[in-house]
Amino acid sequence: MDDCRGWCTEAVRIIEADFNRSADTHLFKLDLPALPGVDLYFKDESTHPTRSLKHRLARSLFLYTICNGWVSEGTTVVEASSGSTAVSEAYFARLLGLPFIAVMPRSTSPEKVDAITFYGGKCHFVDTPAEIYAESKRLAEETGGHYMDQFTYAERATDWRGNNNIAEAIFEQMKREPAPIPTWIVVSAGTGGTSATIGRYVRYCRHETRICVVDPEYSVFYDCFESGDRTLTIDASSRVEGIGRPRCEPSFIPEIIDRMIKVPDAATFAAMRVLGERVDHLPGASTGTNLYGSLEIMAEMVEKGEKGALVTLLCDPGERYRDTSYDDDWLAANGFDIAPYVEQIDRFLDTGEWRPIDA
Ligand SMILES: *Cc1c(COP(=O)(O)O)cnc(C)c1O
Repeated sequence: MDDCRGWCTEAVRIIEADFNRSADTHLFKLDLPALPGVDLYFKDESTHPTRSLKHRLARSLFLYTICNGWVSEGTTVVEASSGSTAVSEAYFARLLGLPFIAVMPRSTSPEKVDAITFYGGKCHFVDTPAEIYAESKRLAEETGGHYMDQFTYAERATDWRGNNNIAEAIFEQMKREPAPIPTWIVVSAGTGGTSATIGRYVRYCRHETRICVVDPEYSVFYDCFESGDRTLTIDASSRVEGIGRPRCEPSFIPEIIDRMIKVPDAATFAAMRVLGERVDHLPGASTGTNLYGSLEIMAEMVEKGEKGALVTLLCDPGERYRDTSYDDDWLAANGFDIAPYVEQIDRFLDTGEWRPIDA
């Protein structure tokens, strides 16, 4: 027991020291002269050491499991992931000198596989996304290791009342803006952890901010939210990496979400491209989903003459998607026609006019 306490104490120090060396991520404002009084901000999560918002989650999960006594010296850590979480967990496992195995669908992008391997993690592939959970559990038992299980623990591993969580950081960074309390915060859901943290924080601080969660085509979150049925599943995997799930993950908390918007995948890729041309760095695919949902809400605000701010997230960098959603041949081969959406988005951003797609 004493040995374990010694290791745990040092492990917590290592993680906290890493945090102490890191800076907060930027909140940048998109310049929108055609939409006076409606402001759009992005919390740029692509600047974490492991390049995505999963850096926050991985840090929280390691602290939570270590402080629970579930992981100690030499424990093999196993995780079910669509890629980004495994990259960030591999980083922390290496900091702590722990063996790490990522269980992922075979379709995971080579860039993510490389990043996991770079941090010394091992990749274990399964054929379908639905298999990652049982296979992770099995591997953890076989190695005497610990199954981290982000899809269960994401919502509870992060301190929801503050302590530098993403919600507190956003409200701090908004303080000197014309509309410091955003009308909406728009996020997407993979584990649901980010929406849970922000939703709880907003209620705890008694802010009027509402939470909108955007969902890609192949995902059950939207239907779970609308129907209240948590048992829904689909036999398909999301084409927007990092978001959308085939089952309603335990970490997804619909009760603290005010609204959900289903975003067509072609609209996601169009929005991602348009943003990439208007800012100085490339956003990843889920950022396109976030932007498209935000634009729908902004169009409603313009229509009603409402003023206010929206905050959304730039979740990870576009460099990870050069061979997929940034590649015209990939889009064509997968049947995505983004042109009508690009036109719709550009027109809105340039003139303030939102034309429905079929008009
Ligand atoms: C995980 C992830 C999200 C969603 O975050 P959750 O907190 O897991 O719901 C969005 N975008 C990317 C790229 C992700 O990896």
